[in-house]
Amino acid sequence: MYCNELHDFRLLGRVALVTGGASGIGESIVRLFHKHGAKVCIADIQDNLSQRICESLGNGPDLSFCHCDVTTEDDVRQSVDFTVDKFGTLDIMVNNAGMSGPPCPDIRDFELSVFEQIFDVNVKGVFVGMKHAARIMIPAKKGSIISICSVASAVGGLGPHAYTGSKHAVLGLTKSVAAEVGKHGIRVNCVSPFAVATGLALAHLPEDERTEDALIGFRNFVGSHANLKGVDLTADDVANAVLFLASDEARYVSGANLMVDGGFTSSNHSLRVFR
Ligand code: NAD
Repeated sequence: MYCNELHDFRLLGRVALVTGGASGIGESIVRLFHKHGAKVCIADIQDNLSQRICESLGNGPDLSFCHCDVTTEDDVRQSVDFTVDKFGTLDIMVNNAGMSGPPCPDIRDFELSVFEQIFDVNVKGVFVGMKHAARIMIPAKKGSIISICSVASAVGGLGPHAYTGSKHAVLGLTKSVAAEVGKHGIRVNCVSPFAVATGLALAHLPEDERTEDALIGFRNFVGSHANLKGVDLTADDVANAVLFLASDEARYVSGANLMVDGGFTSSNHSLRVFR
């Protein structure tokens, strides 16, 4: 019974900040962390969705949200300070906010402004998240920083150039910052999912076409290209990997890129020797 209780609250009393926590994978992380006893602050540009999550979880004292655009350093600084003011410290920083941008199959048509926008959110946003989390974690001599990366951190051809480049950069930042802050007892890791049916995954469709049918079509398409059959990747699977890295169970894991891809990036999909 005692063991079960411990297992049910793997983050009891820990304080976490989740960027992009208002929907998709971020929302799953917020809900799972909350379930495991963490105090969680959602930092997102969609205040109405953040508020709805807080309400759906009972508007308790262990959950809060603040408006934060991760491309603005001041917003990230204030979100970190808000979390520390509210909950006393910051133990876990999840840099989840991200965007893929529209598909562009011809590099000659790739708008530099789009490239910069993707890098602003996916790379600059992650870097300032790491920077301001470290500001709190270094004096505390502990902490876990987790960024949501992608299978596009390992292989090309899965997303637009800017997205793939940005996720390679997130992996590079993860290793670089892990190398610096390990001496302070801080772990820095990232999680790389295969495709999950979220708003980001359907972003290439016009808004009125992002329907349940489109989601089913997306899942079928992904399923047919997945390496692991019989399991559909969900946002909760990604959240479980993040929970592991946030918890003491991963206390000696740092600088890692945890693939949540059913073996997709470690398998050769062209030769098809094993059918
Ligand atoms: P999503 O669109 O459902 O959620 C993204 C969240 O980030 C939204 O709540 C959005 O409001 C927020 N956001 C966007 N720009 C922001 C900004 N500038 N500042 C603050 N918040 C901002 O997408 P998702 O699929 O849940 O993506 C979450 C992360 O997972 C991203 O980093 C994405 O690259 C990564 N990822 C997603 C998939 C997938 O297939 N869905 C696969 C691999 C990696």
